[in-house]
Amino acid sequence: MPTSTRPDLLLPAEPSQRALARELYALVARLPIISPHGHVDPALLAEDQPFPDPAQLLIVPDHYLTRMLFSQGVLPAELGVPTRDGTPVQTDGRRIWRRFAEHWHLFRGTPSRLWLEQTFTEVFGVDTRLSPQTADEVYDALAARLAEPDFRPRALFERFNIEVLATTESPLDDLGRHAKLAADGWGGPGGRVVTTFRPDNVVDLEFGDWAANVDRLGEITGEDTGTYAGYLAALRSRREAFIAAGATSSDHGHLTARTVDLGADAAALFDRARRGRAEPGDTEAFQAHMLLEFARMSLDDGLVMQLHPGAVRNHNRWLYARHGRDVGGDVPQVTEYVHALAPLLDAYGNDPRLRVVLYTLDEDTFTRELAPLAGGYAALLLGAPWWFLDSPEVLRRFRETVTETAGFYNTAGFVDDTRAFCSIPVRHDVARRIDAGFLARLVAEHRLPMDEAAETIVDLAYRLPKKVFKFGEFS
Ligand SMILES: [Zn+2]
Repeated sequence: MPTSTRPDLLLPAEPSQRALARELYALVARLPIISPHGHVDPALLAEDQPFPDPAQLLIVPDHYLTRMLFSQGVLPAELGVPTRDGTPVQTDGRRIWRRFAEHWHLFRGTPSRLWLEQTFTEVFGVDTRLSPQTADEVYDALAARLAEPDFRPRALFERFNIEVLATTESPLDDLGRHAKLAADGWGGPGGRVVTTFRPDNVVDLEFGDWAANVDRLGEITGEDTGTYAGYLAALRSRREAFIAAGATSSDHGHLTARTVDLGADAAALFDRARRGRAEPGDTEAFQAHMLLEFARMSLDDGLVMQLHPGAVRNHNRWLYARHGRDVGGDVPQVTEYVHALAPLLDAYGNDPRLRVVLYTLDEDTFTRELAPLAGGYAALLLGAPWWFLDSPEVLRRFRETVTETAGFYNTAGFVDDTRAFCSIPVRHDVARRIDAGFLARLVAEHRLPMDEAAETIVDLAYRLPKKVFKFGEFS
């Protein structure tokens, strides 16, 4: 799905580099999409029902959008964001859309505007510029498209040319959607839609009902999760089930990057926590320890580990109290990697059988910490700029700050990390364009011959993520 309405979007403005960038971008514009990390609801593809109205599809679930309006005084309820206690919110898609369009100017210069505009034009073929005056016209045009069979999830998946899409599930998920996908020839090992093992809700002691979650983990697996040994056995068992559902990676969302091997103390900590007597510091220590346990499990079962530290969850307490998690109330914090990861790297960092993909919300660490680590340990690779950093500016700065020390081949390829299914091709397209511009500059400065730049951009867009996340071999 290459861009047609703005062919030079995001390519360098300088003419000689732009010409080179066009050539490089053309090599990858139509390549299949590898999406190894994201949060699309697998039910979408399992059930293949028509999408709801444009507001429910594009605005309500997108916390990048609702938080910006909230920062300017528009309440999430006015935009249809559900409440925890069931207090009614706006459900009329057209009203939500109009309210949003009144504030469209807030997104000038943001990646959200870019993604949404590209989604309108490239995915839906709607070229009318959004404004308060055109809100209804755009809404009606999008709604008409959503009613067509070609805009069902599976049809779009084909049109987007997605080769593989990974969703994210907790160990407590029964993977029923993935079973349905497998039955339809869409899922399972080597399938087009696979899952990812995300155990945060049974590893983070402060994650809501941790104890109840661990009980449930025991029920699902038939292991005694009253004991630490049983808990580990239960996690291993769920990983096997996830692998059978096509998973090739796990994902760990921690407050910090800290790792530690607690040894025999781990069981004592677990027992305390199970009795509701966790002590200050236990939450972080247990998560830090579990990363070593998960690394050991990975050595056995081959799951790639993704580590996503640095988000202070639910920083906006009011928002959390009213609307719960994942609605835009999270904020990044300073994240330290060099000392935090040392215990894990001491134990397994030089073992090429282990693969850890590191992400950050702290851009300062790219040059100082992450590139030197990934450039020096066999097990480490750098994940693409994520969440608050997934703008064209940071994608460009990522290449500028990590390539000198880590090169291209210690990076893991682009991840869209999105809940918004319709934005997937747009986001990958943005990354491909930025890489084309970066490589064009290397060619223009006589630092890289064109044929090697051409090979590199195909590697970055397609071969590398496929290899890193074990979706196939590097050819
Ligand atoms: Zn994610």
